[in-house]
Amino acid sequence: MSLANVGRRLSVLAGGQMGELASALGRGSGQTWSSCKASDSASAARTEMLRLMRRAAERFTAAQTEEELYRALLELVREATGAGAGAVHRRDGETLVPSAHYGGGWLRESHEVGDASLPGLATQRHCPIRVVRGGMAQRGWLTSAEDDDSSALSMPVDLDRDRQLIISLLGGGTGLPGTPRGEFTPGDIELVEALAVQMGPHLRRLETERLASVGQLAGSMVHDFKNSVLIIRGAAELCGRVAPETQRFVDLITTESDRMVEMMQELLDFARGNRTLKVQSVSLRRFLAEVAEAHRAVLERAQIELLLDIQAESAAFDPLQVDRALSNLIANARDAMPEGGTLTLRAASDAQFVYLSVQDTGVGMSPEVRKRLFEPFFTEGKVKGTGLGTAIVQRVAEGHGGQVEVLTAEGQGTTMTVCLPLRAN
Ligand code: ADP
Ligand code: MG
Repeated sequence: MSLANVGRRLSVLAGGQMGELASALGRGSGQTWSSCKASDSASAARTEMLRLMRRAAERFTAAQTEEELYRALLELVREATGAGAGAVHRRDGETLVPSAHYGGGWLRESHEVGDASLPGLATQRHCPIRVVRGGMAQRGWLTSAEDDDSSALSMPVDLDRDRQLIISLLGGGTGLPGTPRGEFTPGDIELVEALAVQMGPHLRRLETERLASVGQLAGSMVHDFKNSVLIIRGAAELCGRVAPETQRFVDLITTESDRMVEMMQELLDFARGNRTLKVQSVSLRRFLAEVAEAHRAVLERAQIELLLDIQAESAAFDPLQVDRALSNLIANARDAMPEGGTLTLRAASDAQFVYLSVQDTGVGMSPEVRKRLFEPFFTEGKVKGTGLGTAIVQRVAEGHGGQVEVLTAEGQGTTMTVCLPLRAN
């Protein structure tokens, strides 16, 4: 949710009343900083706000782990709002996983979207919820005797397309000594959201750093593993020739070895990251015939009929990279057809793009899988998935200035298309 939306989507649950907020939003966070004299309170509040933001930048930059980031966020939020207890939950599917907290017993537990807890409700409604004292028990929501006298605030923050945090606070208000704790203000909501949004890029930074180190390690190991597996595979084939009665087991070794090599190749491709493109003019007929040939044996064993449909002559791209992309799509298509089926490898073009697609008659994707398809390490319904295939496909397509299109229907099949500009840039 963007900052601009906060005011519109805010729901205040105070004895069943909604409202009073639009005007308050304009005032910023004056109440939070009300220790200053009225005359210069506005400028003092601004200075205070800038200090807070600067401190936030420093704290977030210094954080080395996700946990440290969440903790820093909560400490800053505590400072800004005076909340007596707080928690950050990370949304993982329908579960809200506690990631940092201070105080507040039930608040630090894990919750579900739409359950009777405040974080659960705020996530379901996808808007901040403020509750006045006693409001939670009155509504039959999860609370505890000590907290029920608190005001509360729970708000979901979308950091990016598939990352959502839920920040929940208890006992907010002025935070001034001797003053009774008041309710959370719209200004508090804005401030919390601003802090959380500022944290987002740092979360991504940590993820990138982690992936880079995993990638380096994987890259160096995978080479050696792959060679060993190929030697085992070769030896098994020889056994089959020497003792034909063992063929059944040899086939098993062969299939599983191929799988392992495929997984390692995916890991290696992913770890290598973006490489410089070696674009050349490619005859699509010959190129796709070669790609098909490389997979024919495996597909035959899986009872999959392979069809070629070539309606374009040539294009300019990096054949090695596009081969990796198509191989990943073919492997996914094969996995989607455990009972066999038809796989069509197709080339078409228009004035701007060449379209290379892999169509299967397999299980198709659920909306959830479709949504997360390109996420690195996302794999669903496979024992041996790396979750890297589609991420590699996307990188290859985008590296060429193109994109990947997905057409899928559950129970009917999937067509994945790599669209490449005719003139790769
Ligand atoms: P992996 O194949 O290692 O699981 P991918 O990134 O290649 O990882 O694919 C991610 C997930 O997307 C797969 O686990 C699968 O659930 C789904 N998927 C990909 N391609 C297809 C397809 N052609 N049909 C059905 N589901 C697919
Ligand atoms: Mg795959």
